[in-house]
Amino acid sequence: MDFDLSEELEALQTSVRRLAQHKVKPRARAIDKEGTYPQDLFEAFRDAGLLGLCLPTEYGGSGAGILGLAIAIEEVAKYSNSAALMLLLTRLPTGPVMIAGTEAQKARYLPGIADGSLRAAFGLSEPQAGSDVMGMRTKGVPEGGTGRSAGSGWILNGTKCWMSGVREADWYTVFAKTSGDPASRSHDSITAFIVERTWDGVEVGRTDHKMGVKGVDTGELLLNDVHVPAENVIGEVGGFRLAMLGLNAMRPIVAARGIGLAEGALMYATEYVQQRAAFGKTIADFQGIQWEIAKCAVDIEAARLLTYRSAVMADRGQYTKEFVPYLSMAKYHATEMAVRASSLAVQLLGAAGYMEDHPTEQWYRDAKQLTIVEGTSQVQLGLIARGVLDRDLWWD
Ligand SMILES: Cc1cc2nc3c(=O)[nH]c(=O)nc-3n(C[C@H](O)[C@H](O)[C@H](O)COP(=O)(O)OP(=O)(O)OC[C@H]3O[C@@H](n4cnc5c(N)ncnc54)[C@H](O)[C@@H]3O)c2cc1C
Repeated sequence: MDFDLSEELEALQTSVRRLAQHKVKPRARAIDKEGTYPQDLFEAFRDAGLLGLCLPTEYGGSGAGILGLAIAIEEVAKYSNSAALMLLLTRLPTGPVMIAGTEAQKARYLPGIADGSLRAAFGLSEPQAGSDVMGMRTKGVPEGGTGRSAGSGWILNGTKCWMSGVREADWYTVFAKTSGDPASRSHDSITAFIVERTWDGVEVGRTDHKMGVKGVDTGELLLNDVHVPAENVIGEVGGFRLAMLGLNAMRPIVAARGIGLAEGALMYATEYVQQRAAFGKTIADFQGIQWEIAKCAVDIEAARLLTYRSAVMADRGQYTKEFVPYLSMAKYHATEMAVRASSLAVQLLGAAGYMEDHPTEQWYRDAKQLTIVEGTSQVQLGLIARGVLDRDLWWD
């Protein structure tokens, strides 16, 4: 067991920390206020080689893996969770392609993500099907025939919603029911596809008005008789498991958004209470305040350990069922902790923390997204419990 980062990862952490301080921090409030996509930061990330962190070197990435991406996201999330989400989107839609895609798919769709010439988004959720993924209604029908084979391709129809980065994306990983029975809850009834933005029948629908993470839009993707060639099926037809594997491997990356946010919030609030005078001392002199700071610091470090360990596991390919409790634990703890830490930061600043003059109110709004996306806290608790009940997590 070694708790130190490798030299390469430490260098990555240092350089992203600097970039985040110089480029992300000064822009964070304006991004939130204006709610527009920060193309300048996308270009800064591209120029620093951060868009390909989790992609293999043979496809133009740097091969830093999920741990490398998590470390970079942690630094960026200290100031802006929108910017952190931009980095996360280099992995969420590409994950299924990396896990189960063909060589041709990888060669066509991955290098552009690494060099910033392509962007992608991930479409699993539907208006009536969030946690209950099997409730999805988007349908894939074999072109010119029925049954499970589709030599000449598929026709997709349906609506995906709450899709992060839907407007900027050039291609989408989308999931559809392909079993012929839209009511089927069988796991082999869902298939993953790569869909390009410019294809006929692909349209971006409404954009959501949301409470935080305003720099990256979320919205609808409308699929209306979209022809998808057979070679754009990711993995097997009926490979729903792929959606779960992709999301399992993402847990440490979402967790990193939480730990970075909490670190940023606690550092900011600590500096504030150390200079805020009250009752003839500073707020930081009160033991009650110090204990809150201490508890939050413990929370952050516990979440970091869970997150880094789960990232190492995911990089080893340990994202199948038996590892799920560890991955889910990181996501659950780090994101719930981010909500607590940002709430504490608002509280420590008092009225000032509630006002837009300080970033605390923004952290507070941004943090809440994290306990909902990519498997809610309740879904993670269910998965952790399942792990214990099935003895995947056991101490004997
Ligand atoms: C800002 C943002 C960005 C997003 N980006 C994307 C994206 O890029 N791609 C994408 O596909 N989706 C995206 N989503 C959607 C997200 O994945 C879903 O919101 C999430 O899966 C939860 O689904 P839901 O909102 O339908 O909630 P529901 O499933 O309706 O859940 C409502 C509540 O019930 C609880 N609940 C549900 N089932 C259970 C259960 N079995 N036991 C206990 N409690 C339960 C939930 O935890 C939650 O508290 C995004 C969402 C947000 C807010």
